[in-house]
Amino acid sequence: MCRQCEINPVWEFTNKRKLCKTCFAKYFRRKINYTIRKFCLIEKGDKVGVAVSGGKDSMATLFVLNDFCKKNRSELIALFIDEGIKCSGKNYRDKGKKYIEKFCKDNNIEFIETSFEKEYKLTLNKKLSQIKKIKISNCFVCSILKRALLNKIARSKGITKLATGHSLDDEAETIILNLVKGDIKLLAKLGPIAGVLHNRKFAARIKPLYLCTTKEIVLFARLMNIKYDSKICPIRSDTLRIKIRKFLSGLEKQHPEVKRAIVNSYLKIMPLLKLKFKDRKINYCEICSEPTSTGKCKTCWVLKKLE
Ligand SMILES: [Zn+2]
Ligand SMILES: [Zn+2]
Repeated sequence: MCRQCEINPVWEFTNKRKLCKTCFAKYFRRKINYTIRKFCLIEKGDKVGVAVSGGKDSMATLFVLNDFCKKNRSELIALFIDEGIKCSGKNYRDKGKKYIEKFCKDNNIEFIETSFEKEYKLTLNKKLSQIKKIKISNCFVCSILKRALLNKIARSKGITKLATGHSLDDEAETIILNLVKGDIKLLAKLGPIAGVLHNRKFAARIKPLYLCTTKEIVLFARLMNIKYDSKICPIRSDTLRIKIRKFLSGLEKQHPEVKRAIVNSYLKIMPLLKLKFKDRKINYCEICSEPTSTGKCKTCWVLKKLE
């Protein structure tokens, strides 16, 4: 039974404490508010954008930020990008987009959409064989192009904070992934506010669901009746990440709270890591003049490879 209300529980913590529907929703929202305040994710005067794909994590982010921003009188905009991915003959993003549009309409949130087709004159599906030839992963190409586009829209709309749906599970996975790859520079870029160097030309990327597990997000979405598309991307290719995901989930079953321990450990060393890479100089891309750490930015590099 829920200890507070003496009614049937919907959630049990690893220490056996149980919560009913109302108490779980309260607990979840409280955790979001705690995350936002503790890591200063959203401050007074911020204009917040949410990158929404229509999946559970981004829809839950949109849902909780809608509450938060209305209460704190911050402006909220939903951003949607169609990458041009086909899934059994149909557009992979169609269903998700419908859910976002409906939610934005019902809650009076500005909705902005664009696509790789419109902005880069390409779709991921048409470039699959080329991506394979140059031996980079579909997910890498997709994330680089998406990030640049989100940033472009954010800048044009005066968005100061760009929220994504990254969960505790995602973060634990990425921490281990970067350790396994030996990429400490990428490791330093993780955290509730992504990146090391903050540049006026970039909206800071924030992760309000940083301390929430996937299991918690799924339950919250169900309880709040949040509609989302549960399809898995048909061209996802990040094999090492998937291996680590499976490994961590197996470990979590035998040793509960392993993922949380990974993220908490990371949070303790994060300030030192960010400090280590802080003094790197920012250059501007010779092609598009976006900020970058080298001569040519990753977006221009990817686009050149896909020509
Ligand atoms: Zn209760
Ligand atoms: Zn560039």
